[in-house]
Amino acid sequence: MPKQSPVPTELDQPFYDACNEDRLVVQHCGPCNRFQFPPRMMCARCGNPGLTWRQVSGRGRIKSRVVVYDSPVSTLVPEQPFNVATIALDEEPDVIMLSHLPGVPVDQVPIGAAVEVIFETTPATGQKVPEWRLAGS
Ligand SMILES: [Zn+2]
Repeated sequence: MPKQSPVPTELDQPFYDACNEDRLVVQHCGPCNRFQFPPRMMCARCGNPGLTWRQVSGRGRIKSRVVVYDSPVSTLVPEQPFNVATIALDEEPDVIMLSHLPGVPVDQVPIGAAVEVIFETTPATGQKVPEWRLAGS
C-alpha cells in the first residue's frame, strides 16, 4: 500500500540512508549492550549520548496486530481495512517496528510468525522505508 514519504531529520538520517541501501540499522548503546528504536539523542536507559548505528538481520516476529477500518489519513482510506502489526526484532525483542504485513489478509495475521524486512520506495520522494513480510513468502 502507498506510504507517505518521511522527511529525515538529523537524528534519523542514518536510518533512512541505510533504508535506501536496503539495510536495516538501529541505534546501539555499548554500555548497555542494547538496541533502541525509534532513534533518540541518547540511550533511554542510561543516558549515554554516544550511540552507534548497527546493522541488524532484518528478521523478527509478529508480536501483536490491530486492523484499521477508519484511518484519518486520506491516502490510506482506499486500502481499508488494513493491518498494523508490531514487529519485535530478533536481536532485541524490546525494539518494535510497525508493519502493514502486505499480502496477509486482515483476519489471518499469524501472531508469533517469523517475518523479514523488505524496503518499499515511497512515491513522493523516492525515500525507501522498511516493511515486513512473512519469512520465506
Ligand atoms: Zn545505555
